[in-house]
Amino acid sequence: MIKKCCNPECDAPFDYREGRLVRISRSSSSGTSAENRFTIEHFWLCGNCTEVFVLDHDSEMKVKMKPRDKKLLERKSVHSKVAA
Ligand SMILES: [Zn+2]
Repeated sequence: MIKKCCNPECDAPFDYREGRLVRISRSSSSGTSAENRFTIEHFWLCGNCTEVFVLDHDSEMKVKMKPRDKKLLERKSVHSKVAA
């Protein structure tokens, strides 16, 4: 259960009405029964952090917070057609 923003430097209490909730299902090799093969984890970034960070995960399903700045800068400077 999520209690607060997953930004370790932020203490915002979980509020489903704002921010961004990400669900990650990872397969666990340690589980023997079918029910234990997948672990679902939830990560939440509060509204403020969502404006600064994006949640991403790598091939091992480790969740990473990436600064959003670069994208915003690119978007501003490109300012032309963006492939949807
Ligand atoms: Zn936050």
